[in-house]
Amino acid sequence: MRCHAVLAPGALVCNHCHALVNAERLEQLATAARTHEERHELTAAREVWAEALELLPPQSVQAEWIRNNVQRLATASATAPVVPAGNAWVRRLGPFAPLVLLLAKGKFLLALFKLKFILSLGVFVAFYWSLYGARFGVGFAILILVHEMGHFIEIKRRGLPAEMPVFLPGLGAYVRWTALGVSVQTRSLVSLAGPMAGLIGAAVCAALWMRSGAAFWIGLASLSAMLNVLNLIPVWVLDGGQAIAALDKNERLMLAAVAVIFAAYFAQPLFLLVAAGAAYRAFTKDLPSAPSHFTTAYYLAILAGLGYVIHMAPSPVPAM
Ligand SMILES: [Zn+2]
Repeated sequence: MRCHAVLAPGALVCNHCHALVNAERLEQLATAARTHEERHELTAAREVWAEALELLPPQSVQAEWIRNNVQRLATASATAPVVPAGNAWVRRLGPFAPLVLLLAKGKFLLALFKLKFILSLGVFVAFYWSLYGARFGVGFAILILVHEMGHFIEIKRRGLPAEMPVFLPGLGAYVRWTALGVSVQTRSLVSLAGPMAGLIGAAVCAALWMRSGAAFWIGLASLSAMLNVLNLIPVWVLDGGQAIAALDKNERLMLAAVAVIFAAYFAQPLFLLVAAGAAYRAFTKDLPSAPSHFTTAYYLAILAGLGYVIHMAPSPVPAM
C-alpha cells in the first residue's frame, strides 16, 4: 500500500519497503488482546495474540515480543486461581443473553469509561482549585486537556487506535495507545504533538494577557509552558523521552547544546534539565538507524516557543 510494489500471495511483509502487510489488522488485534489482559481474560488474550502472530513474519521483533508475551500469559494463567465461569448467570437468561452481553460489553463499558473520564477530570480540577482558586483550576485543566488532545488528534489522524485521555491529579494526564508496528519516527511525532498543542494553548493565554493585561492569563500561560518544557525532558516515559528516540547521536548532542543556549537566552534553568537529559541520551544504546532532521527541528521549535512564552511573563512569575 505504501510503495505500490506487487506482493506475492500470502506475503506478510513488503520486500520493497518492509511495511507490514497486515499492520492495520495487527493494531486491532493488539488492542483487543490488551483489553482482554486488562480484564484478566488471559486465555482469550492468548488466543488473540496467537492470531496476531500468524500475520507477522516469524523472525520479526514484533513476533518475538508476542511469543514472549504469550509465554508469560500461559505462566500467569497456570498459576492464577481458578475463577468460576463468569458467564453462568448470562446462560440462565436464555434468549436475552446476547442482548445482555451486548449491553454489558458495549454501551455499559462506554458509559463507564466516560464516567471515569469525567470523574478524573473533576478530581483534577478540584486539586488545583484548592491551591489556586476555581478559575485557575479550570484554566489549567483545560490546558492539560489541550496538550493531551494534541496527542489524541495526531494518533487519530494517523489512523492508530487511541483512548480518551484520563486525568491524574498532580501528575498531568496521559493518553494510552498501542505502538505495535509503529515506526520510531511516527512515535516521536505523536509524542511531540502534545507539547505542540500545549504551546498553542499557552500562546493563546499569553495573547489574552497582552489584550487584557490580567496577570491570571500570563500566570496560566507560563505555568503551562513550564509544564510542557518539563514534559520535553528526554527521559523516562515523558513525551521528550519518547520523542528523542528518533534522533541520532549527533542530533541528541545538538539538542543538548541548543537547550543550554535556550537556558541562557530565556534565563530559564528548566532547559538545563532538557540539556542534561539529551546529553545523557546521546550515550544510551537506543540510537535509531537513521537521523531525523525534521524531528530535531520540530523538537527545538517547540522548546523555543515555550521558552518565549515563559520569558514573556514579568519576572518573577506573578502570584496566582
Ligand atoms: Zn504528552
